Amino acid sequence: MTETATRPTPDTTVSEADVVVVGAGFSGLYLLHRLRGQGFRVVVFEAGDGVGGTWYWNRYPGARVDVKSMEYSFSFDGELQQEWEWTEKYPPQEELLRYVNHVADRFDLRKDIRLETRVTEAVWDDEDARWMVRTDRGDQVSAAHVIMATGCLSTSKVPEVPGLETYTGRWYHTGHWPKEGVDFTGQRVGVVGTGSSGVQSIPLIAEQAAHLTVFQRTPNFVIPAHNHPIDPEHQRSVKAAYDEHRQAARESGFGIAVPVATKAALEASEEERTALYERAWHDPDNSLVTFLTGFTDMITDREANDTAAQYVRDRIAEIVHDPEVARMLQPTDHPFGTKRPCLGTNYYETFNRPNVRLVDVRRDPIAEITTKGLRTGTEEFEFDALVFATGFDAMTGSLTAVDIRGRDGRSLREVWAAGPRTYLGIQVAGFPNMWTITGPGSPSVLSNMMVSIEQHVEWVSDAIAALRDEGLATMEPDQDAQDGWTRHVDEVGHMTLYPSANSWYMGDNVPGKPRVFMPYIGGVGPYRQKCDEVVSNGYEGFVRRPMRVAAGMS
Ligand code: NAP
Repeated sequence: MTETATRPTPDTTVSEADVVVVGAGFSGLYLLHRLRGQGFRVVVFEAGDGVGGTWYWNRYPGARVDVKSMEYSFSFDGELQQEWEWTEKYPPQEELLRYVNHVADRFDLRKDIRLETRVTEAVWDDEDARWMVRTDRGDQVSAAHVIMATGCLSTSKVPEVPGLETYTGRWYHTGHWPKEGVDFTGQRVGVVGTGSSGVQSIPLIAEQAAHLTVFQRTPNFVIPAHNHPIDPEHQRSVKAAYDEHRQAARESGFGIAVPVATKAALEASEEERTALYERAWHDPDNSLVTFLTGFTDMITDREANDTAAQYVRDRIAEIVHDPEVARMLQPTDHPFGTKRPCLGTNYYETFNRPNVRLVDVRRDPIAEITTKGLRTGTEEFEFDALVFATGFDAMTGSLTAVDIRGRDGRSLREVWAAGPRTYLGIQVAGFPNMWTITGPGSPSVLSNMMVSIEQHVEWVSDAIAALRDEGLATMEPDQDAQDGWTRHVDEVGHMTLYPSANSWYMGDNVPGKPRVFMPYIGGVGPYRQKCDEVVSNGYEGFVRRPMRVAAGMS
């Protein structure tokens, strides 16, 4: 693997590009490759000192993808998908980072990527029909297009409790883990948060630390991951029919090819339901969505959903020895799947360890971080290290972190003050030639991200190439189309149980964030079909203008 060249001295002159891509994760890399192939001059800015996005930053113990490797990988290049050998059902972060770096080298991407450079501002100039992009290193790039490939879960957040600056131990956020790793041997450790990152890291931290205290606000549904090495024969057989597997994923609901349910849980007998849940729990080949896709009514009917939820609660009671701890771990306040379900390895078992304690901070919230640890309403704790597995300002956080100004200087932050509004999760009215990969209003986080990323990268790069080829200069959503899509995303979301939970899907984890169901739950397959129809109908719902009309528009 070669490292990307060190950054040249900052250049304060304005350079030119056709496209600026923000972020060098999976989206940014594929965008660079594809747009280059279409003849565009592309510059990619990346805040990290390496490529990989999510898989660059999330190095916490146990970090691994929870979509199967054979599905969570690029399909755009036949040779790439044939030559790369995955080692596990769910590969660890190190392997995913190796894969990302392999992609960067294989397609010679590094020369157009500026590392350790954060985009701070993007301002649209209606006269020139160009964006001026500025970075924290003083770069100024004038570009016809800006593509935000910033990821849905990349702006990490620590709890809004006072005192962190006074804490004298070491503290970490799972989403920004030190590259050199952390050795907790012999330490008293506190972990705050029991979402996917907490669920993956807690069992491993517990094995290493002298003592671990887990602060849980909401118990999550955690299904056994059954991670295992990939059988080479299985890998060969998937690769032999890779195109069919990939196509099935593209046409599926969640971007994961699983059989489509035909029966409602409430129509099934108790034996049928239990048989399905037993398979979903015990089958080593199960997947994240097995419970959700087993019956037709799992995400729309509370009673149906509760049959699965109760199944999981019963398993927790069987695994966890102390009935009071088991009760604390049993989720009762939200339907199964309405907060992102987790896959775990020895998660519930960890709470049987003598060196692990679970504290319910819903009942007794964290009041303050102290110099030595933290204090809840009733108790004081001392730690050598604190780990925040407290998640992200999801979906919009990394977009609004950049000062993006569209037509008439309107800021994206202000335009989205009451919640994100997009057309197809791809563009925002009033922000011509600005594109979001897996933006709010698209299936994004409710899907296998690789499937959604590839679809958006291909759709967006083709839209930009079509503009150029047709002699057009700008593209943005028609206001009515955007309003209609935003309504549709909300309506479909409210046909499900999702809005009934406090979740980051709804913005609930960020105080003051408007409560809006941000991803599109209509399904990856139907969504792709809609995007394709928009193109066949001449980019229906978008306004595309030639240069001379674009200039001076208000
Ligand atoms: P998360 O799901 O948002 O979980 C954050 C946890 O921190 C929640 O348990 C939350 O409680 C808790 N928390 C936040 N603020 C708190 C406070 N002030 N006091 C006490 N507890 C607090 O974040 P995450 O685990 O990093 O996961 C985010 C998403 O990233 C996942 O849902 C998934 O989509 C993705 N992810 C995927 C993988 C994978 O593929 N394997 C791994 C990690 C992450 P509440 O629930 O009460 O808010």
